[in-house]
Amino acid sequence: MNRVTFLKMATFAAAILMLAGLLFGQSVQPMEFLVRLEDKVNTQVFCLNPVHKGLRMDRVFFEDSTGEAPCPVCGSSEWLFRKNNAVSKQGHFITFKPAGWSWGTNERKHFGIVKINCTLAQAQAWCEGIRNEQAKADAERYEDEGDFAKAKAAQNRADIDARPRKYVFDFEQVLTVNELKDWNNKEKYSKIITVIPDKLIHIKELAEIQ
Ligand SMILES: [Zn+2]
Repeated sequence: MNRVTFLKMATFAAAILMLAGLLFGQSVQPMEFLVRLEDKVNTQVFCLNPVHKGLRMDRVFFEDSTGEAPCPVCGSSEWLFRKNNAVSKQGHFITFKPAGWSWGTNERKHFGIVKINCTLAQAQAWCEGIRNEQAKADAERYEDEGDFAKAKAAQNRADIDARPRKYVFDFEQVLTVNELKDWNNKEKYSKIITVIPDKLIHIKELAEIQ
């Protein structure tokens, strides 16, 4: 090989590498997703009544599964903020990592894990939370009006409502009976299940379901 040919080939190889780098974000690669196995309802309640300021931080916090209990300290229901909007559903993708990720013990035992060949953009969309735009706008308005207690309550709502996902994976349609049993056994590490492209139809946008 002469020098000119070598230089031509080196230039060509460099161009290919650059192109690959540009396309990387769009390229299909194996990703692993953490899947929630059951619906989880949050029963935490905050009382944001300003009379509590300086008491325990600036709020009273209690658990209430009835959804109706007043604040145990001030007896009022007026300032309550219930976190029960923070519902995480069965089949929500909690997060994703490149395939081969070493998940923690809790993650391996208490969640399902699926491996999917997809683009970064797809993975991000499936893990995206629903934002409460109204609460965010309220928070800004209260802030402008100088009503900081209400602004804080609205901001809490905005933050918390971002947790539920836009997409849900109906994994019961995809897993075999034994795989499902394995996932639901919280004592054992969940087997990582590879989801083939044909089965991606079971990842549905919530708008399609409701
Ligand atoms: Zn209270």
